[in-house]
Amino acid sequence: MSDLEDRVAIVTGGSRGIGRAICLELARRGCKVAVNYRNNGEAAAEVVRLIEQGGGQAIAVQGDVSRGADAEALVKATLDAYGTVDILVNNAGITRDTLLARMTEDDWDAVLNTNLKGAFHCVKAVQRTMIRKRYGRIISIGSVSGLAGNAGQANYAAAKAGLVGFTKTLARELGARNVTANLVAPGFVTTELTANLPDSMMEKVIERIPLSRLGQPEDIAPIVAFLASDAAAYITGQVICVDGGLAL
Ligand code: NDP
Repeated sequence: MSDLEDRVAIVTGGSRGIGRAICLELARRGCKVAVNYRNNGEAAAEVVRLIEQGGGQAIAVQGDVSRGADAEALVKATLDAYGTVDILVNNAGITRDTLLARMTEDDWDAVLNTNLKGAFHCVKAVQRTMIRKRYGRIISIGSVSGLAGNAGQANYAAAKAGLVGFTKTLARELGARNVTANLVAPGFVTTELTANLPDSMMEKVIERIPLSRLGQPEDIAPIVAFLASDAAAYITGQVICVDGGLAL
């Protein structure tokens, strides 16, 4: 029997990149998975297909997490399909990188609304179910940018730093109800989010990584599954870097 057998997980932004790898890993370990996406229905359907091919269960649910009503609909669709929610992975994220001098209010709002407010909406939508059942695992995907800052990412670093405070507060507010909240902070991971960064910049980044390579989505997914499992029952409010040593 898999260690997450029959647990129900929602993964925001599960259609691509790191979220996709998290969906596949959670399903491989026995979870039923709600694969959320914003635009890319085909990619989400492909994740569902892969999970079903492996003998698991999954649904794709469209929804923009920056909208409270969409987050509520995502949780409702999951409850309708599987009856409960045990695990929420706040993974959906975007970048609008530029130096602060050129950053527009729209760049700021778009990144904060998806990366930080999106997590707020999803936790608000799911917390009643978790509190009532006295069980829950909330895992948010932060970034080393939110811990160390990063030139060109004032909006993104602020959103990811905000997730750290949000996570620690959730750990304090919900701990007595056996709901844990932790944050995984990746370094640079090869996905479409990082695909457009110039080669010269990536070479410099790799020079700064003690493990001398970029991360892959599959480097991030196992720690998320661990934090969702019973083995992590006594871990809450923590920030765990998975970055090849970048933030040392
Ligand atoms: P990708 O761009 O590869 O995938 C982003 C995912 O988020 C897609 O599934 C996309 O859906 C979804 N998404 C975007 N906006 C919304 C929204 N408003 N509502 C719902 N879903 C949304 O990104 P990554 O896999 O690289 O990043 C995943 C997370 O990891 C993000 O939080 C990111 O900040 C974080 N991270 C990434 C790093 C990296 O180097 N790649 C490093 C550190 C952190 P759709 O397919 O429909 O567009």
